[in-house]
Amino acid sequence: MLYYSTNKQSPAATLEEAVVRGLAPDKGLYMPERIKTLPPAFYHNMGEMSFQEISFIVAEAFFGEDMEADILKNIVYDTLRFDVPLVRVHDSIYSLELFHGPTLAFKDVGARFMARLLGYFIRKEGRREVNVLVATSGDTGSAVANGFLDVEGIHVYVLYPKGKVSEIQEKQFTTLGKNITALEIDGTFDDCQALVKNAFMDEELNRKMALTSANSINVARFLPQAFYYFYAYAQLEKQDAAREVVICVPSGNFGNITAGLFAKRMGLPVKRFIAANNRNDIFYQYLRTGEYSPRPSVPTLANAMDVGAPSNFARVLDLYGGSHEAVCADISGAAYTDEQIRETLADVYRRHHYLLDPHGTCGYRALAEGLQAGETGVFLETAHPAKFIDRVEPIIGERVAIPDTLQRFMQGTKQSIPLPSDFVHFKRYLLNRR
Ligand SMILES: *Cc1c(COP(=O)(O)O)cnc(C)c1O
Repeated sequence: MLYYSTNKQSPAATLEEAVVRGLAPDKGLYMPERIKTLPPAFYHNMGEMSFQEISFIVAEAFFGEDMEADILKNIVYDTLRFDVPLVRVHDSIYSLELFHGPTLAFKDVGARFMARLLGYFIRKEGRREVNVLVATSGDTGSAVANGFLDVEGIHVYVLYPKGKVSEIQEKQFTTLGKNITALEIDGTFDDCQALVKNAFMDEELNRKMALTSANSINVARFLPQAFYYFYAYAQLEKQDAAREVVICVPSGNFGNITAGLFAKRMGLPVKRFIAANNRNDIFYQYLRTGEYSPRPSVPTLANAMDVGAPSNFARVLDLYGGSHEAVCADISGAAYTDEQIRETLADVYRRHHYLLDPHGTCGYRALAEGLQAGETGVFLETAHPAKFIDRVEPIIGERVAIPDTLQRFMQGTKQSIPLPSDFVHFKRYLLNRR
């Protein structure tokens, strides 16, 4: 299958090229040239199938033309070594818990899949070691580092701003060792991002070492997120509740919801989607006005959604042929302030004994407010509340138990390499590492 760029100024790419490049040369995002629909029998039997079985069938529709079935199957099964349970919160509102992976957030699915797919391409082509550079303000670094841990032929450098990520987040990518190196930059997140960008543009560096990004716009990170939409539906079917299904996605860069829109295109009977924003409501304003006006992000309680220019907006538009009307027919939106997030998080915990995280809270509230009679609602709970313990505990006025997976990270020893924020030092460091 070939992949075209949303900017349509670059030639179509193979899957391998799209994965290794990430962004198309014309700075557009890659889209598969066809979205295959899945047969009715699959939808009929889904309720009896496991997460891995369902995902393999979806993966074949995306990637089956480009690799042997048993290799793809291994990648899918090895990626999904954890469950994504659908839990009823109250009435016809369900939470799809995407936080049972190694770093307790949904990005584990895409990061693990991409690492394995990239690893496969490196072995197949006998390529030299590939170096993944990733700048993080917290969560992306942990998902990528853990996703790529122990994958042969790949070395990951995580760049993070010194003193600006929480201890829990920091431990998730500084305690791993092996093929993961944490670079503690004396600067801001923007400095880290600038270092990565400069590295990709530096001719000497690119000649001497193979560099790639594990950015969330990569097709290998974003498409596998479709898997759990199918599995959510399967779990509703099993409970005989798969009627007029509405799915609500707490959104930042809009990769997660775009994968859901792909699932719908493949025939998954989802009636409509809701995109939940925090105060960074660029998409919500687009839905209301038809105008897309990116603006600088503001910090909120749901910080993984603090995005001022959602990178996957281009994919959403492309999927709907640029029609605002067509987008609005499938997606509605909502946006919440920190005050509303606090209020809803506390309220759901008190009344329904379900502890949300700040991101899932936006999803829950948009769903609870938007669901109509006869509809069944699923919101994506994108991270475990304990990941944001310093914010969640004061809201509910209680201690939050830290799951074993997080505890284990906390016990590890931090190893990082301190670096100043200028490119000269960073470049010298990378060159001397080889
Ligand atoms: C990344 C992230 C989001 C936003 O997902 P997008 O795909 O960028 O829309 C929401 N919640 C959490 C916890 C995240 O880490």
